[in-house]
Amino acid sequence: MSSRSVSAVVPASSQLEGAGMVVHRTFPGARLDMVDPFLLLDELGPADFGPGEAPGFPDHPHRGFETVTYMLDGVMEHRDSAGHRGVVGPGDVQWMTAGSGLVHSEMPDSRGGPLHGFQLWVNLPAADKMSDPRYQELSAAEIPEWSGDGARVNVLAGAVGDVAGRIETHLPITYLHVRLDPGAAFTQPVPAALNAFVYLSDGSVSVGGEDVAAKATLLLDGDGDEVAISAGGDGADLLLLAGQPLREPVARYGPFVMNTKAELAEAVDDYQAGRMGVI
Ligand code: FE
Repeated sequence: MSSRSVSAVVPASSQLEGAGMVVHRTFPGARLDMVDPFLLLDELGPADFGPGEAPGFPDHPHRGFETVTYMLDGVMEHRDSAGHRGVVGPGDVQWMTAGSGLVHSEMPDSRGGPLHGFQLWVNLPAADKMSDPRYQELSAAEIPEWSGDGARVNVLAGAVGDVAGRIETHLPITYLHVRLDPGAAFTQPVPAALNAFVYLSDGSVSVGGEDVAAKATLLLDGDGDEVAISAGGDGADLLLLAGQPLREPVARYGPFVMNTKAELAEAVDDYQAGRMGVI
């Protein structure tokens, strides 16, 4: 096995999304458009809100991809136009395949409190973009955990050793939440054919001889078949993501991600005509 090196480090910028939620984002942005098949990664917060203060993401549509919400602290209440309701609490994941489209809202607890989580957008192959919407929801207790020397890993998708995640994905996808004690190391096999990156939420790491401090995305070269991460003196809290690239044309407009401009125009028409539903 040989370790992948870091091809680019993209520092996160903070910005306001939805109704004013503070998010840390490394892509899409000026420095990095996407990491095929991943279209977006936002770290929500961490923030602390008083009652009624927490802004959320009121009614909006999606078509053509998947949104993955993983909360670490606080809750996100979810409703959609098909009548689906759910609460994503600390440690829970909601893997939503928007497919042909729906309208949903994602709102924090109106009573306030801490809020910290991640939202990842995963593209769908052209053949699956108009599939029926689907939810896969796992509570914290249902997410398999792997632990090693100074390392704890929540396996959302993919596998670490013989610990396999339970989410069914359209493409080979690995989504790991890795927490490392100071100085601890973690190595994960990632085939060279998969695109991969590390999002460092907290602490510092050394990967392929590159030292990086939070918050940043470390793009990994396809020059090896494993990712070796060592934590700095304060430990590290990070996401490791890998996925098989689609290598298909991407046409995106806000909450719609299709393959052509004509399909985007159709998505806007369908949404405006209420064909994606209304909450
Ligand atoms: Fe959404």
